[in-house]
Amino acid sequence: MKNLLKKLLPNGFKEKYRDYKKKKRKNALDGKGVTCVICNSTYKEFAPYGMPKRSNARCFNCGSLERHRLIWKYIDDKKLLNKSLSILHFAPEKVFYKLFSTSEDIEYVPCDLMPEIYNYDGNTIIQQADITDIPFDSNHFDFIVCNHVLEHIPDDRLAMSELFRVMKPGGSGIFQVPLDYNREHTYEDFSITTPEGRAEAFGQHDHVRWYGRDYKDRLANVGFQVVEDDFVKTFSKDEQFKYGFMDSEMIYFCKKTEAS
Ligand SMILES: [Zn+2]
Repeated sequence: MKNLLKKLLPNGFKEKYRDYKKKKRKNALDGKGVTCVICNSTYKEFAPYGMPKRSNARCFNCGSLERHRLIWKYIDDKKLLNKSLSILHFAPEKVFYKLFSTSEDIEYVPCDLMPEIYNYDGNTIIQQADITDIPFDSNHFDFIVCNHVLEHIPDDRLAMSELFRVMKPGGSGIFQVPLDYNREHTYEDFSITTPEGRAEAFGQHDHVRWYGRDYKDRLANVGFQVVEDDFVKTFSKDEQFKYGFMDSEMIYFCKKTEAS
């Protein structure tokens, strides 16, 4: 259809359309309305992104989305990485992979159940790891990043206890999941196994539950001290726009106490 349209449209129209698109992009890029906290780029606003499209979402330069920038701002403001650290990173997001893998102070271990699906041009190899049977020593990592993984894992309690096991006493981590704050209890039904059924019940074809407000209790039950931090609310509406944050996501910051 697109090709047919291209053939049918007169050349002059195509050029005008190209100029219009270029102008639109330049208008979006020029300005200092927003600042990416990850790559420090400034724009009039961030690019729209998602289905349906959200405005002010994606950084034109580093590709960060709202949640990446919020997590990074949290890590930065709380000075969580201000010493040499070992970091375990499940399902590594590209923006964080770039930041962690290029830091000389960090022993960085990115991993995934299916490392072959990643195509990052970096020197740090993404290792194969099952989150319910993590192939690393106990009490090893200072900091663990595991975002939008647990909602895919049938035995998420086992995964959480494995994350706890490999974290050093005194260590910490950020474990974000999609969460429905209208639900008091997490909803799961393991009789729903088809992609269509899961999409309808849990919002995505490969999710196995909808977490509710008891998510923090699941984490606490395996031993974590959980800080449910409504960090984004510490910013004014203007600041939230400037950094391109969504105002609906809490940070789940989990600590393993020295006594653990
Ligand atoms: Zn950026």
